[in-house]
Amino acid sequence: MTNPEEEKVIPPTPFEGGKEKKSLNFIEAKVEEDLANGKNGGRVQTRFPPEPNGYLHIGHAKAICLDFGIAAAHGGVCNLRFDDTNPTKENMEYVDAIKEDIQWLGYQWGNEYYASDYFQQLWDFAIELIKRGKAYIDEQSSEEIAAQKGTPTQPGIESPYRNRPVEESLDLFNKMNNGEIGEGKMVLRAKIDMANPNMHFRDPIIYRVVDTPHHRTGTKWHAYPMYDFAHGESDYFEGVTHSLCTLEFVVHRPLYDLFIDWLKEIRGEGDNLDDNRPRQTEFNKLNLNYILLSKRNLLVLVNEGLVSGWDDPRMPTICGFRRRGYTPSSIHKFIDKIGYTTYDALNDFALMESAIREDLNATATRVAAVVNPVKLVITNYPEGQIEEMEAINNPEDETAGSHKIAFGRELWIEKEDFMEDAPKKYFRMTPGNEVRLKNAYIVKCTGCKKDENGEVVEVYAEYDPDTKSGLPGANRKVKGTIHWVSCERCLEAEVRMYDRLWKVENPRDELARLQNEGKTSLEAMKEMMNPNSLEVRPVCYVEEYLADAKPLDHFQFQRIGYFTVDKDSTEGHLVFNRTVALKDTWAKTM
Ligand code: ATP
Ligand code: MG
Repeated sequence: MTNPEEEKVIPPTPFEGGKEKKSLNFIEAKVEEDLANGKNGGRVQTRFPPEPNGYLHIGHAKAICLDFGIAAAHGGVCNLRFDDTNPTKENMEYVDAIKEDIQWLGYQWGNEYYASDYFQQLWDFAIELIKRGKAYIDEQSSEEIAAQKGTPTQPGIESPYRNRPVEESLDLFNKMNNGEIGEGKMVLRAKIDMANPNMHFRDPIIYRVVDTPHHRTGTKWHAYPMYDFAHGESDYFEGVTHSLCTLEFVVHRPLYDLFIDWLKEIRGEGDNLDDNRPRQTEFNKLNLNYILLSKRNLLVLVNEGLVSGWDDPRMPTICGFRRRGYTPSSIHKFIDKIGYTTYDALNDFALMESAIREDLNATATRVAAVVNPVKLVITNYPEGQIEEMEAINNPEDETAGSHKIAFGRELWIEKEDFMEDAPKKYFRMTPGNEVRLKNAYIVKCTGCKKDENGEVVEVYAEYDPDTKSGLPGANRKVKGTIHWVSCERCLEAEVRMYDRLWKVENPRDELARLQNEGKTSLEAMKEMMNPNSLEVRPVCYVEEYLADAKPLDHFQFQRIGYFTVDKDSTEGHLVFNRTVALKDTWAKTM
């Protein structure tokens, strides 16, 4: 555990997008105003506070970019704090994965904190509250307590235990913590106001019993603080100045402030309650069409085997996007595009796709890959001859250079690039028509061979030797250009094409609707899932240049889309993931 006094300053984000001077979002504006007013002694300190109960998703990336970005932009520090107050759902695998994902996004936290490091301080605070008559042990069941809460317009009912003697509460609180009281038998509640219009003030539960050992503190504790009792105090202990969170916490803010008031008062830290304390500001959660977020939901997908794991390339997790071929800078670009507001929205996933296309268009090496192969034989090309053709790596980047691609008599081309009876505007392979083979020759289609079912098994063409790429004859006008790979000099590859995981535009709301009808999460998810979200093409052909490609290398398969090597690749068996199609994913490209 690092010392809170030793705060390191994080380096500014390495991504171009973060350096552009843009109009400030409302949170940045607030931070600048605080700085201008000399608040917090000119300090800016934020935190990113994930609960280690799953892998981070793209929604978290939005929070991360803000928490780390604000600190970096103002010479401040952003710490990582694991909100580990619920041992039943948390573990170290998640802690490690969260750290890896934040770093992959390009950020480095100042200190690594855990809410569990504050269990003693929180316990002491709770004891003090009991002593001051501000908290009591309730022995009712959670159902009874909920039934007494009232409604926003109707006051709640006070618990029969509300005014029990302090000594009794102290004794029972100790018993809760030393394992003498079973889970759900007793809770500690703050004594605030059962008639308050804010439901969170109606004697909120601040401690409960959990018997599962904690991933860091083992069996030392049995009484664990609730989120509302741990979060604000943790911010305060660390010296957070700006505590940024999502809109559902707006209604929790008065309680956040109240607990910090009480804490400051008890500790005698500053007469001015407004001084030197964290302030919570809320922004809208990311919600994307055709994407379901929330770790709780994603855990169901993983546990029930509806996807292959947290990093299944169809998952909206950071590691899923990474494996799918998204880059950190594309995620930054996307987050920049959608911005931060104070109202709930449903963003278009197309924005995410255009961000990754923009990024890979500038950086991905262009290669030839045939994902639905049929053989093309160039009947007038010498048998056994191979020519090395020059292929430009990236027309968007002169410095990217070129590589060689082998050309021969037999080539693989896409089935869709040949039609025996083609309509007028079909400019690809059709008998009598000329077409350019990318980086090679102009060829004229002469016919095809079909099997007994009428399936085309071979296409024939003749080449014109004067039209080799780079020669003057190559300038002859032909309307179509198609890609190809040499049959003799290519590699076999498996290509995985992905489609939306969900059929419905707003899976979050649809899931809630189906659950309201009494369906379990699993039943609802099965109903909502797109049965065609993964299409495996087991036999594709790619040029030899890809032999040494490594997982997370990015390529443009010309005319098809952007692809990355999957971690399932082995020597001799390349596997590619389609990151995104060249234009619109939903317009069938191939
Ligand atoms: P989940 O439901 O996915 O578990 P959470 O809010 O419970 O989300 P935490 O791990 O507690 O997740 O959150 C860490 C931070 O990320 C919080 O500040 C939270 O507000 C933020 N966050 C979570 N989901 C989103 C989202 N969809 N958009 C923006 N920020 C989010
Ligand atoms: Mg949560």
